[in-house]
Amino acid sequence: MKTFLRGALCAIILTLSIFLASCGDTQTDTASFEAMDTLMSFTVYGDESICDTIQSRILSLDALVDATDENSEIYRLNTAKKATVSADTAALLSNALALCDRLDGSFDITVYPAVQAWGFTTGDYRIPDDNELKTLAESIDYTAVSFDGDGTAFLPEGVMLDLGAVAKGYAADVSGDILRESSAHAAVLNLGGTIRLYGKKPDGSRFKVGIADPQNPAGYFGYLSCGEGVVATSGGYERFFEQDGKRYIHILDPATAAPVDNNIQSVTIVSDNGAFADAASTALFVMGLDKATAYYQNHNDFDFIILTDDNNLYVTEGIYDDFTLSDSYDFTIQKVRSLS
Ligand code: ADP
Ligand code: MG
Repeated sequence: MKTFLRGALCAIILTLSIFLASCGDTQTDTASFEAMDTLMSFTVYGDESICDTIQSRILSLDALVDATDENSEIYRLNTAKKATVSADTAALLSNALALCDRLDGSFDITVYPAVQAWGFTTGDYRIPDDNELKTLAESIDYTAVSFDGDGTAFLPEGVMLDLGAVAKGYAADVSGDILRESSAHAAVLNLGGTIRLYGKKPDGSRFKVGIADPQNPAGYFGYLSCGEGVVATSGGYERFFEQDGKRYIHILDPATAAPVDNNIQSVTIVSDNGAFADAASTALFVMGLDKATAYYQNHNDFDFIILTDDNNLYVTEGIYDDFTLSDSYDFTIQKVRSLS
């Protein structure tokens, strides 16, 4: 999987523009590497050696939870249906299960059999027939996962886990913890579309994050000015195949086991919590605009930017004033208000 995705992933990385004005710092550390099926690139100010530490932490997490890797703990759990996992895997799994609940099942880590059936793990794409989809949809149920929290997990027959929609966000949180214990005072960590912004620039200016244009992922339809936190984007353009003029994207609706097709081009979530931001960018994509708006209004502890197929942008009020449309774009911007 890693090889066939490489070209596409290079493109993904290029779609993310992050501008961190020079901090006037001599101690700058950078890194660029492949992990979690994507390319990651880091810039850290105020610490000369922290990138290596973060990189090895992410690589070891990846080795534990990559469902396609025969040596990973999640692979072992998926095949044996019972496994005692390490503390790292246990923490990510508990976090992910809680997010399935919190996101009302639109994010569901048991989508793996469906992800495989559509060919997203290998690139051998196919369209399962209605009977197969019905069986697959019945197998998607995170409440069937039994995990006692102290390390031993059980899966029923037919159920398999995929932490792909949350692992990068979780890694962004772990990276934030490492940064807090370092001498770094500012950092931009791009974990393949999930971006951790840390600290403060000495000149007091805010970070500026480009949001990829799904029609031309090397460009940005707009920019978000942000403080500390995580900005995570999910888009159909990131991985998909086309057959008979129809596009099938890698984000699946747990209710149908089929790719989501609901007039959304991309969902960006801004939150202090990386695991939430990552999972929610997938979940709100599944929900569609109306349910995503209602979800936001009922929770109110994050912000989003949703771009629909007709080039309307929906931006929640918490970040509305921080968003700037790029010059050549004439998207219509609607402010999404919270109810309180
Ligand atoms: P990316 O990994 O490209 O940034 P996402 O974070 O949206 O995109 O994760 C999508 C991946 O998560 C898919 O490739 C698939 O493995 C898995 N997935 C797809 N749909 C769901 C879903 N509804 N809930 C949880 N995981 C999903
Ligand atoms: Mg995600």
